[in-house]
Amino acid sequence: MSLNNEIVRDTQIVVDLDKLGENMRMIKDMVGKNVRTLAVVKANGYGHGAVGIAKTLMENGADYLSVATLSEALDIRRKHADYPVLIMGHTPDKYMHHVVEHNITQTIFSYEQAEVLNSLAEKSGKKVNVHIKIDTGFHRLGLLSSQPTETVEEIKKIASLPMLILEGIFSHLALVNAEENEKQYAEFTKIIKLLEEENITFELCHIADSIAAVDYPQYRMDMVRVGALIYGMRGFHVGFLPVNQVMTFKTSISQLHNIKKGEGVSYDYLWKAPEDSIIATLPFGYADGYPRNLRDKGYVTIDGIKCPIIGVICMDQCMADVTKVPNVHEGQEAVIYGDGENQMTISEAAALAGTNKNDIISRITARVQKIYKKGDIK
Ligand SMILES: *Cc1c(COP(=O)(O)O)cnc(C)c1O
Repeated sequence: MSLNNEIVRDTQIVVDLDKLGENMRMIKDMVGKNVRTLAVVKANGYGHGAVGIAKTLMENGADYLSVATLSEALDIRRKHADYPVLIMGHTPDKYMHHVVEHNITQTIFSYEQAEVLNSLAEKSGKKVNVHIKIDTGFHRLGLLSSQPTETVEEIKKIASLPMLILEGIFSHLALVNAEENEKQYAEFTKIIKLLEEENITFELCHIADSIAAVDYPQYRMDMVRVGALIYGMRGFHVGFLPVNQVMTFKTSISQLHNIKKGEGVSYDYLWKAPEDSIIATLPFGYADGYPRNLRDKGYVTIDGIKCPIIGVICMDQCMADVTKVPNVHEGQEAVIYGDGENQMTISEAAALAGTNKNDIISRITARVQKIYKKGDIK
């Protein structure tokens, strides 16, 4: 085992590849044969490690992978030369040659970008796949559907570039409510129709993310872009799919302290022992992506017992009150996020931290080692 891959830290994300595969197959079954699935593995696979999960996703029903940035796409390319990868974000012109060189699919939202990509493709004699982004109201990226004439003219110019393959066109829902979704969808299909009249068609039209894929089957079109769902996050409201949380975040106790009633813990002594207590020091902190505002709200689970995180959460460590755990000992496992009994789920962590589930998992930083579990092999 090389030093790079060696397990040298107890603070780990355990990724259950069997559950991941099951989730992916469930999504594929839900959308059926005629709709393709694009598995979103941006932000290092929402904290699960994009490279470590790509194969499981592709072998269990994903047709496409997507990331936000070029560097994320190149990470996947280092391991997988052939998987289709879409960059959904902006790639600056000065880095665009990598897109051509590594056969990556690029999102395009202006003729200028398309021209840069086309001339690089001409130089290397390789055609490039692109997906056109349409802004139907979200106002993040895309050509405006509210100016259909200009948008259609611009896409016609892009379509005339000989080295670009216009494989896809997409938009993104703001998920405000059913009425707004319908408006955005209508804006999107209006542009697709106008382009059709100009003989510009696309193999892949797509607008649905995880929530839309479950709650609004009418917007699945040719492909759904699923992120949260593949990791087992149930963000949907109307529909239902029994996906399961893929990650367990765990560590083990570094040290135990017996402290006297009234003694303080961590910066500013913000927590003071209400009685004689046993305090466990745990080797994870906000630099591992744990929300700092979970002080006095979050908990770890030791031997099936909920142990509250007490005092200010430090960069690399935090403390938990383990007084109630019988025979508690140093080196004992503590579950940070899990979905077993008495364990804090991602969903609960998100609610307690006042944010959403994607934020909780994607903020887990690179120094947390990922362990991939498949069958009984760990
Ligand atoms: C991140 C992202 C998705 C996936 O979103 P989930 O809610 O995690 O399914 C889909 N489409 C775009 C454009 C994205 O940026």
